[in-house]
Amino acid sequence: MSDSNLLPRTLAAVWHPCTQMKHLERTPPLAIARGEGPWLIDHDGRRYLDAISSWWVNLFGHANPRINAALIDQLSRIEHVMLAGCTHAPVVELSERLGQLTGLGHAFYGSDGASATEIALKMSFHFWRNSGRPEKTSFISLKNSYHGETLGALSVTDVALFKDTYAPLLRHSHQAMSPDSRLAETGESAHGYALRAAADLEAHLAAHAGSTAAIILEPLVQGAAGMAMYPPVYLKRVRELCDQYQVHLIADEIAVGFGRTGTLFACEQAGEKVAAIADFLCLSKGITGGYLPLSCVLTRDAVYAAFYDDATARGFLHSHSYTGNPLACRAALAVLDLFEQDAVIAANRIKAARFSEILKEVAAHPRVRNFRHTGMIWAFDVADAAPGFSDEFHRRALELGVFIRPIGHSVYFMPPYVIEEPEMHLLAETTLACLS
Ligand SMILES: *Cc1c(COP(=O)(O)O)cnc(C)c1O
Repeated sequence: MSDSNLLPRTLAAVWHPCTQMKHLERTPPLAIARGEGPWLIDHDGRRYLDAISSWWVNLFGHANPRINAALIDQLSRIEHVMLAGCTHAPVVELSERLGQLTGLGHAFYGSDGASATEIALKMSFHFWRNSGRPEKTSFISLKNSYHGETLGALSVTDVALFKDTYAPLLRHSHQAMSPDSRLAETGESAHGYALRAAADLEAHLAAHAGSTAAIILEPLVQGAAGMAMYPPVYLKRVRELCDQYQVHLIADEIAVGFGRTGTLFACEQAGEKVAAIADFLCLSKGITGGYLPLSCVLTRDAVYAAFYDDATARGFLHSHSYTGNPLACRAALAVLDLFEQDAVIAANRIKAARFSEILKEVAAHPRVRNFRHTGMIWAFDVADAAPGFSDEFHRRALELGVFIRPIGHSVYFMPPYVIEEPEMHLLAETTLACLS
């Protein structure tokens, strides 16, 4: 493919996501020609360490030979067929394996994270309607939550920059206190604060459970909030409250699923399998190792049963054209094979301990506050960060060969699992250079 003059051409022809296009005059996008493991390589051969896994999707590096091989094999069989009226081996096998891993089942597929959020919200509402409780129409999410940016998903998202402009288009939802451990009072433990946040949720449920369909939350790490972390006890307590008040729990593991928090799914840290905690599980991002868009919602037999009927309208009549795309499902199967064959969760535990060690100097830097770590995510806040800190940090890191994008004054690392020690050192040294 031609690589000449990509910058003026992208500015003229492409509307980039989450971007004020005018700012690209100052900070032009990188024109990436290829990738190799955790590295992005531009047309001049310059290499950048992908420290945030291309927006949290990449698990096993770019151009991974094993995922590539699975896709090449699938390409010669069937690239796509509609999933209404047809089925195929990759979608069946993926659904069976996700069912075994989570204790949930009846996998329903979408293409992006936001579509998984829409599916879970609609399914929960429709379950209550089919169960003779049509008044359960409202949703709860957490302060500073992020669940995607289509209108339904944005309604339960709580990021002012993304939401305020569109407020007139959105349905109201309630935001309960965030369990973010940074918000604990001095002297209060993260555990104690999480229980206090759960008590706030209970107060809302005590008054509004009758009209509430579900609470949606990001288990253990609120990503877009700047990697806000909280202990598993909060999830346990919310599960109890959802049982007590008859409200669904939707676990949005779009960002934290597939090993990011140190277990295959974050909910496992609060219960043996996801099914011990969540009624619905939303997955996307890492599901295909960052290769192809795919999302999935899993739920309980009891939810599924409420839709199973002779009447068409009691069914879940939701669809996307690319639902269950065979190539994407095949990439997801290759990812699950990698987890199994390479015992990735155990290997990551060792890698994470090593990286935490390498980051000690960063954690002790005088400008660093709230240094935190869960699984394969590290984050900290920067004291006295000037306006424009994030862009400035991003630009300086690029000059040193690292692709990283702080969220406001929070810097985070979410590297592909194939990162090795020399790259960990580069990341730590680059961060120290950018901080001084
Ligand atoms: C990224 C993300 C989404 C939305 O996924 P898209 O594929 O960007 O639509 C939803 N929830 C969480 C927690 C996410 O991190």
